[in-house]
Amino acid sequence: MIRFRHLAAMLAAAGLAACATPAATTPTAERDLSPGVAWVASSQGWADEAEAVYDEATAYVEQVAASRPEGSWAVALDIDETVLNNVEYQVRLEESGATYTPESWHAWTGEKAATLVPGAKEFLERVNALGGHIALVTNRADSEQLWTEENLAQVGLTRPDDFRILMTRAYPEGASNKMPRYAIIPAMLGAQGYPDVEVVAYVGDNVGDKPDTPGDWEFFCIDQGAMYGEPCAAVPGPGR
Ligand SMILES: [Mg+2]
Repeated sequence: MIRFRHLAAMLAAAGLAACATPAATTPTAERDLSPGVAWVASSQGWADEAEAVYDEATAYVEQVAASRPEGSWAVALDIDETVLNNVEYQVRLEESGATYTPESWHAWTGEKAATLVPGAKEFLERVNALGGHIALVTNRADSEQLWTEENLAQVGLTRPDDFRILMTRAYPEGASNKMPRYAIIPAMLGAQGYPDVEVVAYVGDNVGDKPDTPGDWEFFCIDQGAMYGEPCAAVPGPGR
């Protein structure tokens, strides 16, 4: 089942957008940022929204844990704009007039400078404390896996305490569709000594961060201000 935003919140967001102040008098650095990037980069509202989504996800897994044996369930999360915040990369692009390239993104991942999405670390810790497993499924390239793990470690997320599985995308031939990787999470955990695990929730910022067929799981959407890909947020930006 997928959670959609409340209609009233959508209408409120539309109202806010209509009242937005023209950027004519803002400083150059700010004027050059697109609204979504500026919102993620400097707005407490973005952090509050992310924490609110993780609060909902926490309440859900607490319910799950109450009715399932310890170790029998897992949560699958995307990484970029879900656990790690890469807005600094986007700010640099926009301030220099550049656009995304695989090369500049690769260099950015090598910096290992992404920060935490607010609420993510606490959520991972709560899942583990409740007896759930964490699987991270990302479309970062396999050549970026080590840097990604080092970046995660720099923000305090390490194996095995915080996550047990991290699957990247084989580059360049690997499919961006995450379904095949989602499908093998239970088998991977089974091979590691945790049989009969079900994925009960997915967390991501894009529509592809959950299975493409319905199932007995919940999806929690982090709003990334429409910076990347195909956002899952019904109203990307302020106005949750
Ligand atoms: Mg993402």
